[in-house]
Amino acid sequence: MNGSMLDWPLTLDRILVHAERWHPDQAVVGVASDGGMQRRTYAECADRARRLSAALLAHGIGPGDRVATLGWNTLPHFEAWYAIMGIGAVCHTLNLRMDATQLAWIARDAGDRLLLVDPALLPVAEAVRALCPAIEEVIVLGAGTDALVAAHEPARWGGFGEDQPAGLCYTSGTTGDPKGVLYTHRSNFLHTLAIVQPDLFGIGAADSVLPIVPMFHANAWGITFAAPAVGAKLVLPGARLDGASVHRLIAEEGVTMSAAVPTVWQGLLDHLDHAGGGLAPLRRVVIGGSACPPSMQRRLADHYGVEVRHAWGMTELSPLGTVAAPSAASAALPPEEARRLLQSQGRPPLGVDLRVISDDPAAGPDAPGRLFARGYATVGRYFGKDAPATDAEGWFETGDVAVIDHGFLHITDRDKDVVKSGGEWISSQGLEAIAAEHPAVAHCAVIAADCDRWGERPLLVVQLREGEDCSDASLLEAFDGAVPRWWVPDGIVRVGAMPLGATGKIDKRALRAAYRGHLRAS
Ligand code: ADP
Repeated sequence: MNGSMLDWPLTLDRILVHAERWHPDQAVVGVASDGGMQRRTYAECADRARRLSAALLAHGIGPGDRVATLGWNTLPHFEAWYAIMGIGAVCHTLNLRMDATQLAWIARDAGDRLLLVDPALLPVAEAVRALCPAIEEVIVLGAGTDALVAAHEPARWGGFGEDQPAGLCYTSGTTGDPKGVLYTHRSNFLHTLAIVQPDLFGIGAADSVLPIVPMFHANAWGITFAAPAVGAKLVLPGARLDGASVHRLIAEEGVTMSAAVPTVWQGLLDHLDHAGGGLAPLRRVVIGGSACPPSMQRRLADHYGVEVRHAWGMTELSPLGTVAAPSAASAALPPEEARRLLQSQGRPPLGVDLRVISDDPAAGPDAPGRLFARGYATVGRYFGKDAPATDAEGWFETGDVAVIDHGFLHITDRDKDVVKSGGEWISSQGLEAIAAEHPAVAHCAVIAADCDRWGERPLLVVQLREGEDCSDASLLEAFDGAVPRWWVPDGIVRVGAMPLGATGKIDKRALRAAYRGHLRAS
C-alpha cells in the first residue's frame, strides 16, 4: 500500500525560495575579493541566482552537468551555488588551496564543463583550463556573473526528483588520489534539517551566521543551506580569515554563531591576546575538522563567554557525524566530568548510525576500535566508481579510531596518525590535547617518528606563540602523570609555522615527510 501524502521532492532550490518568500529582507553580506563589503537580501540573491540559472541553461548546461566553482565564501559564489543546483546541475566546489595540476586532475575526473572563479584566482583557473580542455569557459564570479545576471530573465527552478545529484566535493587526498562525493538534493536537504536543531548547530532566524569553513570544505558544513533555511542573516567572510579580520567581522555584522577548524580559532585567540577586546555578540561556535583542544574550549567559554560545540564529521558524511551538546545527563554530572563529556566529539543526530569495532575479539563494547558510519547522508559509492564505498550492510569505514564512552564518541586518532610503539598504540590526539595546554604553545602536532627499538615513537612538533620561548623540559612537564610514561614524546621539534593542508588543518603528512627520521638522526 502507498501512503497518501503529497509528492514534494526535497530539492535544495526550495531553501532559497523559502528564504525569499518568508525572509525576503534578511541580509546576506559578503566580503568581496577587493576587500569591500557587498550587501544583498535573500530576495535579491534568489532573483539574481535564477537569472544566472537562465544564463547556464542558455549555455547548454542541463541536469547532471558539472559546473565547477573555485572561490572563497562570497556573495557571487553563494548565488552561483543556487543557480547551478536550482536547474538540477551539479555544483562542484574546487578546493582553492590545491595547485593547478591537482585541480586539473580533479576537474577532469569530475568532467567539469564550466569553471566559475573568484577574480583573485583567475590565473589558477586559466592554468587549470590549459590542462583540462574539456572546460568550455571560465567565468569570473562578480564581473562575469553580474553581466550574465543583467542579460537574462529569471529561469524556473525545480521540476526534478530529490535523488538528483546537487553537489560534488572531493576529499583532500591525504591517502591516495582525491575521491569525489556526489551529494543529492535529498541528502543535503535532510542534512540541513538536522544541523539547525538546538543540539547540533542550533541556528535560528535571530542569528547572524558566519561560516568561516569554506564552501569547498564539505559545503561549508551545510551552513550555506542552513542559514537561508531558517532565515538567519548570512555573513560570508571572503578570503580574509586571519584573527583581526574575523574579529572585525563578528563585531561589525553582529555575528552570533560561527564555524571553523581549530587553526582559525587559534588565530582569533592569538589576535585577541595582542589586540584585546571581546567577542560579543558571538554566542556559539562549532569547531571540528580536527580535534578541538580542551584548552581552546576553556578559553573561548571562560574568557569570552562563547559556547563551543565540538563536532566530528567528514566529507563522506555530508559532513556531520556527531556534535557534543549539553543534556540533562551532562548537567547532572560534577562540572569537571560534564566538561570532559562536552570535550568529546559528542553524539550523532537521528539519521547517523555509528559503530566501533575492535580488532581484539575479546574486547568489550567500550574498547577503542575502528569507527564505521552509515545514514541517509553517508556516501554509498565514490563518484565515477562502480564499487561500493561501504560493506554489504552499508557501513562506511571512516578511517578513524574511536571509543564510545557513556554514549559519547571520543575520536582517539586517525588510523594513519596513530603512533605504533612496540606493538602498542599511542593516541597522537591525546598527546596534542596535553601539549596544547602549555601557555607558550600556539599549535602542536604529534607524529610517529621511526625508531629502531620500538618501530615508532611519538615526536612533538610545536609552533610557539609569537614572542614566547620555553625549554623542552617545560614542554614535557605537562605529560608527567597525565599519560603512561611510555607515551611521553621522545623528541621535540620547533617550527616557525605549521604546514597547513588543503582544508586549513595541520598537515601531518608534510610533518611526517620532514621529521619521520628525526629521532634516528638526533
Ligand atoms: P580532509 O581529508 O580534508 O581532512 P575531511 O574534512 O573530510 O577531509 O576530514 C575528515 C576527518 O577529519 C575525519 O575522518 C577525522 O579524522 C577528522 N576530524 C574531523 N572532525 C574531527 C574532530 N572533531 N576530532 C578529531 N578528528 C576530526
